[in-house]
Amino acid sequence: MIPFNKPYFTGKETHYIEDAVKRGKISGNGDYTKMCQNYFETTFGFKKALLTTSCTDALEMCAILADIKQGDEVIIPSYTFVSTAIAFIRQGAKVIFADSEPNNPNIDTSKIESLITSKTKAIVPVHYAGIACDMDVIMDMANRHDLLVIEDAAQAICATYKGKPLGSIGHMSAFSFHETKNIISGEGGLLAINDERFIKRSEIIWEKGTNRAEFFRGEVNKYGWVDTGSSFLPSEVIAAFLWAQIENIEKIQNKRLEHWEYYYAALKDWAVTNRIELPEIPVFASNNAHMFYLKCDSLKQRDAIIKHLKENDILAVFHYISLHSSPYYVNKHDGRALPYSDRFTKQLLRLPLYYELEPKHIVNKLLSYGS
Ligand SMILES: *Cc1c(COP(=O)(O)O)cnc(C)c1O
Repeated sequence: MIPFNKPYFTGKETHYIEDAVKRGKISGNGDYTKMCQNYFETTFGFKKALLTTSCTDALEMCAILADIKQGDEVIIPSYTFVSTAIAFIRQGAKVIFADSEPNNPNIDTSKIESLITSKTKAIVPVHYAGIACDMDVIMDMANRHDLLVIEDAAQAICATYKGKPLGSIGHMSAFSFHETKNIISGEGGLLAINDERFIKRSEIIWEKGTNRAEFFRGEVNKYGWVDTGSSFLPSEVIAAFLWAQIENIEKIQNKRLEHWEYYYAALKDWAVTNRIELPEIPVFASNNAHMFYLKCDSLKQRDAIIKHLKENDILAVFHYISLHSSPYYVNKHDGRALPYSDRFTKQLLRLPLYYELEPKHIVNKLLSYGS
């Protein structure tokens, strides 16, 4: 069976993990953590980068930093992973779901403004498949209404909006290194801060509400409990693993892009014949080849393609069930119809995409569907 995802190991991961062990310090915020954070800050221009144990954790830190409280409202797309919502729900907020664009699972920026109320605190765009949301429109709206923008950049490493790295535009952002993402550490994530007002507090929340980071830099002469927080930082074992991936990030990205472009070129005509749409990359966005998806013409067609591929030992998978219709939130949602979010729930299909993929075989099997 050709899997949907296969984590890629560069070969250096265990070498760096062994080195971390030899250095004799495997708790968090050691040499490898600092190397990774420094890489992200210098490469993507974040004012502060903090490794976390997941993107979910990074989003939870964002919700704390944004001071989200009971009764606040946060606008997020419905077509997203549950973590985008849960970080804010746990702080007592109400999430207000916005619809996707007609042809792209990203939040429809033209639908956001009418959802803003006096309770709204933040907008959380999700760059689905690593393809940028229209950030100028979102930032402008946020500035006019005095809202924070938190980018869910879980899938968006190395992607850009008008040449700017995703995750560097909103006030803060969250990335994932889960084994299904482009660069990985098993579980893992990153909080990126772009608004300097949040830097000091982010380090405190990261280390269980203590000012430990300041203490170790010699900026205060004792450390203690000064704020809320949790244990959001990963161990050096995870950071060492991630370092091997970072070293190979260009090679990984090039290979993924090669596969993506192969799929696109080879499936273009077939898609038209079968009334299937391929992903569209807006002119303001670059492609980080996180995902290759098909927009099928119906649920029935998607089921048939999944079945056809399965019979050929290929695993293709659908993606999110719109959060506004999930069992946990269906009764809390305000009842607005979100037709495009529902469209992608029923019609989006993801093809296998990973470093060691041989897309030719998958394409050949797909081309035999419908003919
Ligand atoms: C993967 C993903 C997450 C969660 O990432 P974890 O590192 O597994 O916590 C959140 N949001 C989106 C859009 C994702 O794709």
